[in-house]
This record gives sequence, C-alpha cells and structure tokens, in this order.
Amino acid sequence: MTGTAEPSLSELPLRPELKGEEPYGAPQLDVPVLLNVNENPYPPSREVIEDLSRAVGEAVATMNRYPERDALALRADLADYLGHGLTADNIWAANGSNEVMTHVLGAFGGPGRSALTFVPSYSMYPEYARNTHTAWLTVPRRADFTLDLDLALRSIAELRPDVILIASPNNPTGTATDLDQLRSLCAAAPGVIVIDEAYAEFARPGTRSALDLLPSFGNLAVSRTMSKAFAFAGGRLGYLAAAPAFIDALRIVRLPYHLSVVSQAAARAALAHAPELLQQVDALRRERDALQDWLLATGLQVAASDANFVLFGRFADRHRVWQQLLDRGVLIRETGPTGWLRVSVGTPEETAAFRTALTDILPDNERLTDD
Ligand SMILES: *Cc1c(COP(=O)(O)O)cnc(C)c1O
Repeated sequence: MTGTAEPSLSELPLRPELKGEEPYGAPQLDVPVLLNVNENPYPPSREVIEDLSRAVGEAVATMNRYPERDALALRADLADYLGHGLTADNIWAANGSNEVMTHVLGAFGGPGRSALTFVPSYSMYPEYARNTHTAWLTVPRRADFTLDLDLALRSIAELRPDVILIASPNNPTGTATDLDQLRSLCAAAPGVIVIDEAYAEFARPGTRSALDLLPSFGNLAVSRTMSKAFAFAGGRLGYLAAAPAFIDALRIVRLPYHLSVVSQAAARAALAHAPELLQQVDALRRERDALQDWLLATGLQVAASDANFVLFGRFADRHRVWQQLLDRGVLIRETGPTGWLRVSVGTPEETAAFRTALTDILPDNERLTDD
C-alpha cells in the first residue's frame, strides 16, 4: 500500500483470486431496441401498476420495523403458484435467483468442495463458485448443446462434485434437458443438484418440469425466477423448491432480513396477477419459433431454443456483427461459444427491427462453417 487516500484497485489487499476480475457486465446502453438480457419486453399494465403501488405503499408504512425474516407469506404464495403439492416449507426466496444460488453455494459449497456444470452455460455460475471459495468444474455438452449423459455420469463418478448446477432450458443455448436424463443426474449426484428453470415457462408445451422429480430426491432443488416470464426483472425475486431440510440449510447462510418489506409486498402483489403477467409468454414463444425459422432461412446456424432467446451464428467476427447491429439501434448479447451471438425475443416490432438490421449487415459478414 502506498498510503494514498485514493488507492487504485491494485494497491488494495484484494483476495488473490479476485485480482484482474471484472464485475458482471452485460452493457446497459441507451438504445431503442434492447434484446440483450432476456427480459420480458412487455411492461406491466395500469392495473398491475396500481395494485403493486398500493401494496408497496402499505408496506412502506411499516418501514421502521425489520421485514418478516422468513418471508413466509410470500413463500406460501410461490408454493401455490408452483403447485405440485408444495408448501411454504418447500420454498426459498431471495433477491433474484442469483442470490438464491449464492445461498446454495454458501451452504453446500465452500473451501475444499466443488461445483460442476455442463458448458456452455450461464456465465454467473463460476462467479458464485469463486465468491464462495468453491472449486469450479466443467464438463462439455455435445456440439448441439444437448447433454452427453454417459460423459456426464462418468464425470460425476470421477469428480464427485458437492454441487451440480444445470440450467434447463440452458442459457445461453436455450437447450432443455430431458426429464429422464435429469432423473439419472439426480440419482448419480453425490451431493446436491440444482436444476435452474429460469426459463421453464417458455419451454415448448409438453416439456416436463423437474418439479416432478422433487418427491423422489431430497438432494434436488428446482430454481425459478420472476425476472423472465413474470416480467419482474426490476423487482428482483428468485426462488427455489426443495425438501424442507434443504431450505433450512439455506436459512443458515442468508443474511438476516435479506428480503425487504418492499420486495416481499411487490412480489406478492405481482403473483396475485400471475395469469395476466404470464399471458405474454405464449406470444413470446410464438415469436421465438418464428425468429428461429427466419434465422434458419437466412442460412445461419441456430441452437434449438426452449427459452425466450435464440443463439445463432456462426460468424468469423461476431464482435463486428454485434457492433453493426448496435450501430443500427439494436443491442444483443455477445456470449456463448466462439462465433455465436444471442438475441432475446422482444415485441413483434423489436424483433422486426432486429431482422431488418441483420438483413442489412449479413452480406458483409463472413460465416464460419463446421468442418
Ligand atoms: C436470467 C437467469 C436467471 C435469473 O436471474 P435473476 O437473478 O433471478 O434475475 C437465473 N439463471 C439463469 C440461467 C438465467 O439466465
């Protein structure tokens, strides 16, 4: 340390494994068409806004007191939404499923322990592991991004991970994993397994949720979020379902009063409008399918998606494509394996703007082919 009052980051005694790390950073830019972080493009209706405002207003009147620590009323509402015979004891909730996952790694990971996922997958998973001092292990998916079950089972037997994380539908690929495969993973997991269903509501009709597996596996948690299908990304509410003992483990590591009175009240008011908030999901699914068909028709490669986004490519210089779209007012996400880009499904107008911009620049951008 140099003793200056305004040290640079490199002068501070940062944990060695954090040196050189950048904070999570999907760019938040002010452009007309935002298709980069898989938000629901439909803002709440006047009626929902009024109900949420009333609920938050009442909650604020008790602001001098700490919130109800265990958020039992909210957890009961979330259990009702999920069905499957679940009750408040089966549910955990926090400020986004990002915080829920941090609780899982805090309780079941840690020094000398490991967490494993199947890549490519969600860019935040290694960060939860790093922040909780949990060793990070990865096993590749197949070229089409589906799970290679034999490889998965062999890797689990060999590596004995304490935590397995699997996103289904997966981000950034959109790939859903078959329930029979998930059952095999649950049976093989030596520790706990979290199936991250952040995009479950967007899956093709008939896709079964891992909630069906909960009665059979005490080591399983199924994670959900209100950020995507519920159009509640700004409200920050994620949750998971598991056996009551699993929930008790998470309660040990959560910070006290982690969910504010405002968050609890707003989430409960939003849940009371679940049918209305979810009614756009069907429209978004149809828009996604049409977008995939269109991308395929342009001759691009597309990863089959069960989520509210599509991974497409592959470009010799994907950054150039990303930048040229941005220059035309369309922000998408530069993520996933080399050459791929991810676009969220927006309103029909937003998706049309994306198609127009991409049509404009495609002839000018070299593709990669598989050989
Ligand atoms: C968006 C997303 C989440 C949700 O994060 P929140 O913190 O609830 O907003 C969780 N998992 C995956 C794979 C996601 O893409």
